Amino acid sequence: MFDLSLVVPCFNEEDNVDDFYEAVKSVFDDSDYNYEIVFVNDGSRDKTFSRLRMIHEKDPRVAVVSFSRNFGKEAAMLAGLKRSKGALVCIIDADLQQHPSVAKKMADFLKANDEYDCVVAYQQERKESKSMQRMKKLFYKIINRVSDTEFVTGASDFRIFRRCMAESIVAMPEYHRFSKGIFSWVGYNTYFMPYSALERNAGETKWSFKKLFKYAVEGFISFTTFPLKIATFLGILTSFLSVIYFGVVVIQKLFFGIDVPGYPTIIGLILLIGGLQLLILGIIGEYLARIYIQSKNRPIYIEKEVMSSESGEKPNESK
Ligand code: UDP
Ligand code: MG
Repeated sequence: MFDLSLVVPCFNEEDNVDDFYEAVKSVFDDSDYNYEIVFVNDGSRDKTFSRLRMIHEKDPRVAVVSFSRNFGKEAAMLAGLKRSKGALVCIIDADLQQHPSVAKKMADFLKANDEYDCVVAYQQERKESKSMQRMKKLFYKIINRVSDTEFVTGASDFRIFRRCMAESIVAMPEYHRFSKGIFSWVGYNTYFMPYSALERNAGETKWSFKKLFKYAVEGFISFTTFPLKIATFLGILTSFLSVIYFGVVVIQKLFFGIDVPGYPTIIGLILLIGGLQLLILGIIGEYLARIYIQSKNRPIYIEKEVMSSESGEKPNESK
């Protein structure tokens, strides 16, 4: 068995995987960790897979799981967790923004501190635009207010945990996975370790603004049913206001003889109420769509090819 599994999701990382592998070796080969690396090739369209196969062929401690298409980082992390065998499991990116030496520090911390089951690397400062930082802050503020699950600003997917926690995460069968929520939902004692992300080794980030926005919506819908309650709240509010309004109209008519010319008011109210109804229907639809997809029970990913790791000897350097 391994002491440590490094789970590495890779999507179009042909220029990074070799450097990543070398970095892991330089950090861990001299340590007393008996480790494996589980690369998950998430439907890359470049040479990532053949590079990974070459690494696997020269080093039996390297496992490679290859998907039939791009299923997203969430799916890749899950597949890696399922295939990992180590007593500690670390999720780390392939682009060397998260350096293996930090992973080792995190593993050392878990070894030394029995009371913790998980170490999360979180970024105190981010090299992002001010507006992006502000938006992320707002997202965390709102979701923490309405959800029972706790979300920590700046906590990344770069984390390490014990086998028991990995098993709990794998046991969650949801199709729409928002791992930041899942990690927090399963509980376990978590230590937050500050780190600063490095520059990407090669290639470009796969996160566009659109993808991030979709991800944020996913987080909301997966971890709170609060938006559904908006309908109830608005319903009560409009009913209340309309009762007051009709009272005012009746009093005006009976006591002051004022006929309210109603045309613009009616159009305005119809548009307002119609708009609100459509909005609420849309929100209900978002939840319904997820129930629909989950009920189809489709697999979260499809493995096209799997090359397992074997514990044992370090690779033969002469190869
Ligand atoms: N990734 C993946 N599938 C995807 C998108 C990304 O497996 O659909 C991997 C990617 O190869 C990298 C990690 O997830 O190892 C983080 O991606 P990226 O560096 O683009 O994100 P960022 O660091 O900018 O948040
Ligand atoms: Mg990155």
